[in-house]
Amino acid sequence: MAKIISGKEVSAFIQSKMTDEVKYLNEKGISVSLAVIIVGEDPASKVYVANKKKACEKLGIVSYEYALPENTTQQELLDLVNELNQRADVNGILCQLPLPKHLDETSVINAIDPDKDVDCFHPVNVGKVSIGNGKLLPCTPAGIMEMMKYEGISPEGKNCVVIGRSNIVGKPISSLLLNANGTVTTCHSKTKNLAEITSQADILVAAVGRPLFVTADMVKEGAVVIDVGIHRDENNKLCGDVDFASVEPKAGYITPVPGGVGPMTIAMLMCNTVTAAKIQNGVI
Ligand code: NAD
Repeated sequence: MAKIISGKEVSAFIQSKMTDEVKYLNEKGISVSLAVIIVGEDPASKVYVANKKKACEKLGIVSYEYALPENTTQQELLDLVNELNQRADVNGILCQLPLPKHLDETSVINAIDPDKDVDCFHPVNVGKVSIGNGKLLPCTPAGIMEMMKYEGISPEGKNCVVIGRSNIVGKPISSLLLNANGTVTTCHSKTKNLAEITSQADILVAAVGRPLFVTADMVKEGAVVIDVGIHRDENNKLCGDVDFASVEPKAGYITPVPGGVGPMTIAMLMCNTVTAAKIQNGVI
């Protein structure tokens, strides 16, 4: 039976550390703030933004919300980003994705000051992560690393297999595992003999975006299995990319869905906001 890695527990641990850091910075006269931009009426995006605001409030981080109408133009959005880049009272800037179809996400991401890029999507920050000296880290992948650290699991010398090569999860978690001295294989939709590769993994990260994709026959006995996927099954219950029922008895460690990687993403966003404030105030 696997040890369940609780993202709720690790997230609470990280958020409590960040609360202390915010207090410490406030005592030095440094406030910590996050500006969140949302364009349009996407209900899921509204929930994500509300959760980010709530997390900020809990930790003592000042939050500014910019809710722009659906018909916002590219120039209006870029003007707002530029204004927030200039403002000394804004440490982190996040533009909630996806944007309405008429807006170009890449140019918005590229317009954010890299030192305020708390999502770590700007090419400068992606490059820094890739060469192993990033201060701002990609939130979901950094959350996975924190979960392993909390459990005393080191990727060093381990066979690490990542299923998925997206810019948000697959590629950056591959970089972080490699930076931590893992031997990393990144698999994707064109990978041949996937089960053969995954069944050699000491650490298996599933970021496929397909419900219950990873089954017990794809997993090595005693492996650490990290499930990034979030889906609703036919009964509207949350499930992940991993078939938890069949994999859990075989794995050494496993993250559940819900309550696994999910809560880590917001905790790491808070970490990045604190880091951004430190960078801008010359504290690190
Ligand atoms: P994505 O769709 O951008 O990428 C999926 C990747 O899986 C692709 O690189 C693709 O090549 C690969 N893939 C697809 N089919 C495959 C197959 N048959 N065999 C091998 N590889 C295959 O998705 P994403 O943005 O990386 O997200 C992955 C999952 O993680 C989604 O369920 C998403 O909702 C979830 N997610 C969760 C969090 C969180 O905070 N917990 C954050 C981001 C994403």
